[in-house]
Amino acid sequence: MHMHCEIYAEKIELGTTNIVEVYVEKAMAPYHYDKGKKAFAWDWYQIGGRYMGSHDDHNPRDNPNNHETCWLCDGTGKRMDMVVENGCNGCKGTGVHFKWSMEWEKHQGDVMKLSEVKKHLTAYALIIPNFGQELWMGEWWNGEQYVKTGWDGKVLDKLKEKGLTDGYLITVDYHE
Ligand SMILES: [Zn+2]
Repeated sequence: MHMHCEIYAEKIELGTTNIVEVYVEKAMAPYHYDKGKKAFAWDWYQIGGRYMGSHDDHNPRDNPNNHETCWLCDGTGKRMDMVVENGCNGCKGTGVHFKWSMEWEKHQGDVMKLSEVKKHLTAYALIIPNFGQELWMGEWWNGEQYVKTGWDGKVLDKLKEKGLTDGYLITVDYHE
């Protein structure tokens, strides 16, 4: 399953993508399935991914670069090689195919200052590294089963509770 994780960062050098990626890698490392399943165990993740735009309600469908000419019908909307109902089955007859999330153009808003993030942001998991590698989840694996933790998923409220009102959030899509 794909899950929405938010990672807190005190400081980030914006524009230096690699630094964000290294930071996320470190934050996620303790939960890799190779290390044994703790609260959760991922086998894949991506910054943004299918949770792209969570900070600002950006819709990846609104970015023209996330669409491509349908290769099944070469943009005509009609399958010439087989009979299908309602136009080409790759694009519902539109000739345009919405790309898979792995291929979407990066969205800058997936790394965002806390002050700009929408107030009601919720996530499945929140990692707060450098403060004891703190992890918050609505439910987690206790070694035998998933148990509810009582956290409501409200990211900004949790950070505020910990006195963190400045810094950044990074949206991550992980697979478990
Ligand atoms: Zn098509």
